[in-house]
Amino acid sequence: MTQKTKYIFVTGGVTSSLGKGIIAASLAKLLQAQGYRVTIQKLDPYINVDPGTLNPYEHGECYVTEDGAETDLDLGHYERFLNVPTSQANNVTTGRIYQSVIQKERRGEFLGKTVQVVPHITNEIKRRVQLLGKSGDYDIVITEIGGTVGDIESLPYIEAVRQLRWDLGKDNAIVIHLTLVPFLSAAGELKTKPTQHSIKTLMESGVQADILVCRTEHNLPKELRRKLALFCNVREEAVIQSIDASTIYDVPNLMLEEGLDKVVLEQLNLKSDTPDITRWNSFVHRHKNPKTEVTIGLIGKYVELQDSYKSILESFIHAGAENEVKVKIESIHSEYLNQDNIKLKLSHLDGVLVAPGFGERGIEGKITAVKFVRENNIPFLGICLGMQMAVIEFARNVLGIADANSTEMDSASSNPVIDLMEEQKTITDKGGTMRLGAWSCELKKGSIVHDIYKNDTIKERHRHRYEFNSNYKEQLEAAGMIATGLNPDTGLVEIVEIPEHPWFVGVQYHPEYKSTVANPHPLFVAFVKAALNYKKNQKGVSMAQN
Ligand code: GLN
Repeated sequence: MTQKTKYIFVTGGVTSSLGKGIIAASLAKLLQAQGYRVTIQKLDPYINVDPGTLNPYEHGECYVTEDGAETDLDLGHYERFLNVPTSQANNVTTGRIYQSVIQKERRGEFLGKTVQVVPHITNEIKRRVQLLGKSGDYDIVITEIGGTVGDIESLPYIEAVRQLRWDLGKDNAIVIHLTLVPFLSAAGELKTKPTQHSIKTLMESGVQADILVCRTEHNLPKELRRKLALFCNVREEAVIQSIDASTIYDVPNLMLEEGLDKVVLEQLNLKSDTPDITRWNSFVHRHKNPKTEVTIGLIGKYVELQDSYKSILESFIHAGAENEVKVKIESIHSEYLNQDNIKLKLSHLDGVLVAPGFGERGIEGKITAVKFVRENNIPFLGICLGMQMAVIEFARNVLGIADANSTEMDSASSNPVIDLMEEQKTITDKGGTMRLGAWSCELKKGSIVHDIYKNDTIKERHRHRYEFNSNYKEQLEAAGMIATGLNPDTGLVEIVEIPEHPWFVGVQYHPEYKSTVANPHPLFVAFVKAALNYKKNQKGVSMAQN
């Protein structure tokens, strides 16, 4: 294998949302399937230190890594495709770059010197890019640069790429430029001009792309590829078409057909082989050929935006394929749920997931939904805020504590069944201060989760401030809500179940962050299975009634 780490930069042109993350993850998959150790890094040009303080409307889901970094949702794609964990080093923002340069300046590390974008900011970008390479863990590091070339904010990154290509040599650092080839229906033609301009913009910063990946709705004819190659200074076989796909999981195969992995390895002077993606393909086959279907309600307050619950939706795809079932997701806005419409909105569902979230908006709708599924034996999975709502609902409606609440919603609540931990009470900074990252959890023998995980101890990722208040544990357990997962170090309750109910599980952590194509998350797999069983039983009931 290779001695020195090779670098691949992925830039984007013409417009945002072309799917750089999926192209990077698909290429990484193909390289990994040829035996290379690959990781992907995302550089985000915004000033926030991390996306943890952004709301999902701004930036989609915030993805959490094993080491507790709050990151861009593209890291979720990287993990789902590669089945290799990412870390804080895999996501760097302009805010973080400036923060470390300014901290150095305050420490006096540049004493006497003017601190400037070039070389100080660009040096810090270069250092962050090479951090993963220098760990010795990877043969290839793919660095995706957020934003679009030409953006003011992207300039220092593009400049850092130019310098790195110079420092490392052209066969150790290559640039893939992702661009759009639009189809003008009035002219009936695919147009190359935006791509030509975008390549030109890149060249103004001294960066020549080695490979063009062209996002398109129609196949690119040979003459058009030739034209793009000629105008953009790339070889014809380095003009790769990325045609719209019905699922992101088709993209590795589409890139393989186009020979992206081959061109990349050639340019990096690395050996290329036929990638072995048999396991991947068997997943795609199962995903596309389900034997039956279940409908699961996803109850949240950001449901109108697909990206808000990205990892949950992808986890259902993995779990569906594992069960050979199509999981139809019905997005339900918690803000509009109430006693009057709850039956209409939920009674046809085979399972209900109450989603994570922050703040007061929509929580009463979530509590009403939990009550309905608990009383009607519909399989339920509550994640983070969803679990907290399940505890509140049980306390209010089973224990009869009418004012039970979370102190997040009512800081003066006299029955805070969900409350801040002592160490959270003195925290004033909002960024990176929640309970984050992987924590151990011990599972109770005989519980649903023990049966699902087939393990006594698990490790799952967290992102929350509030916790199950253990002062209410005894009362809740006596009434039938059992704490089946405990943090061995702090005693915090991480999982609740209702054994009387066929499948009712609430988890304080986020299982969705750990589901991958190679390892569908057991909790999602079991939940889909429970939904399937529920559906079969329901059919049995309605046939018996006929
Ligand atoms: N808002 C809740 C808390 O901070 C739940 C967070 C979440 O669902 N990720 O504890």
